Amino acid sequence: MSIFAEAKSSATGGETAVWGAFIDGRFVVPPRAKTFEVREPATDEVIASVVEADDDLVEQAVASARRAYEDVWRHLSPRERTGYLRAVADAIRDHADELSELESREVGKPRRDALRFDISFCSSGFDYFAGLTETLHGELLDQGPIETRVLYEPYGVVAAILPFNWPPIHFTKKLAPLLAAGNTGVVKPGEQAPLTVLRLTEIVNQVLPEGVVNAVAGRPAGAALAGHPTVERITFTGATATGRAVLKSAAENVTYATMELGGKNALIVLDDADMDVAVAVATEGMFYNQGEACTSTARILVHRSRADEFVERFSDATRSLKVGDGLDPETDIGPMVDRTQQEKVLAHLQSALDEGATVQAQGAIPTDSRLAKGYWVAPTLLTGVTPEMRVAREEIFGPIACVMTYDDIDTAIDIANSTPYGLTAALITPDHFKAAQLAGRLDAGMIFVNNYMRRAFLGSPFGGIKGSGFGRENWAETLKEFVRAKTVRFPSGRGEIPGWPPPKD
Ligand code: NAD
Repeated sequence: MSIFAEAKSSATGGETAVWGAFIDGRFVVPPRAKTFEVREPATDEVIASVVEADDDLVEQAVASARRAYEDVWRHLSPRERTGYLRAVADAIRDHADELSELESREVGKPRRDALRFDISFCSSGFDYFAGLTETLHGELLDQGPIETRVLYEPYGVVAAILPFNWPPIHFTKKLAPLLAAGNTGVVKPGEQAPLTVLRLTEIVNQVLPEGVVNAVAGRPAGAALAGHPTVERITFTGATATGRAVLKSAAENVTYATMELGGKNALIVLDDADMDVAVAVATEGMFYNQGEACTSTARILVHRSRADEFVERFSDATRSLKVGDGLDPETDIGPMVDRTQQEKVLAHLQSALDEGATVQAQGAIPTDSRLAKGYWVAPTLLTGVTPEMRVAREEIFGPIACVMTYDDIDTAIDIANSTPYGLTAALITPDHFKAAQLAGRLDAGMIFVNNYMRRAFLGSPFGGIKGSGFGRENWAETLKEFVRAKTVRFPSGRGEIPGWPPPKD
């Protein structure tokens, strides 16, 4: 039996059964439930049917999380929560092989990267927040006659709405801090790739009290959670347009929501750049995860004096990437997650050509007949792109790199800041003083200088500005985003508490 079959049969109770919603510690498949298919992006074969959660299932999941919060989770000491989160990290580590295969098969990405980065981040993230649980103590403010106790209280039930890319990473970025802070959760994976999150939910439930983490899949469940009156906190990652819809629902119930949204990130190669570094950063920044990354360096701005050299070397790098089945250890770039995404990316490519851009270099897509129906997009380097073109303004979420040239750094900064997004930006220059000055002028939440090390990000604040959202994940302060401060004021026994009205002279 393959690792995938093991996961499937564990999650469904049989090889052919449907993956249910995960509520109160078990998979639930209501009779006559509506289902949707998950297809393997490399082959277009159906690999699973999943229950599309309706309002009733969402209601059950929220009620389960509420019960677990009221009856168990809110009463634990921070140290007890630490113990649970460490056990979660160990349980994920124990299933790393299986989870990386599952993620690769449903998202299409190289299994090698899934194992080394995504699943490893997933377990480390739970360890990281386990270590922080006890730092969330209250405070005592001495205000003379009065002292104020500040209590940090969890919200209660948190809805975690995730995108399709990097499912285990988003699962951890949301669940680890919200659980550490004392909340319970209902997680909603992207409908293109829900299996890893459903299986992760099952795995964490092996060590957590039932109901602490529940999962519902299918697109309608997102809106149902965002507008649910007893969901007290929303943490969302996805496209900017979807984020707006979530915020509108949240506004109805005055629910606090944080937003990790899209990006159209600029990489600026300065005239003094080390070209080895520039090409390495551009290759990783652009093509990692097939370009299905909010952080992808989709706009590459190169000083005109270095453009020919950069384009020649980046072209070689682009052509050398091996596109193929994510399960093949040689693969660098997998297929797009689904047919819709493939068509969207190819339409962007066509619009660039229609507007006058040139395909400067392109990798090869697989010729193997087994992969003939895969959702392939060849890694592509476009030149002759101008900032006004659609391809340079809109998020593509695929392996299409746009190279533009600039003559002076002020123009480069203006172009970099000219989109509605503000997630990341990158600078390639050996002059760190200059880089520090330019970093201050770039409208982005995260700036990378001479590196694009997304893989070592745990512990650093992650998040954007402008249309890329608000809130910061991934670091110690994230814990505070999942609690609200409560003020309790007592007489300190020192000094007089003046009455009212004050004595009349
Ligand atoms: P998406 O916006 O289509 O979907 C995200 C999630 O929202 C899915 O679970 C979806 O079912 C759900 N959803 C859809 N409509 C909803 C509604 N009305 N109310 C509530 N939930 C709803 O995004 P996607 O295609 O899955 O992911 C790609 C996008 O995510 C890109 O824009 C990318 O930049 C962004 N992203 C951002 C970050 C970040 O950290 N900033 C990370 C990864 C991805």
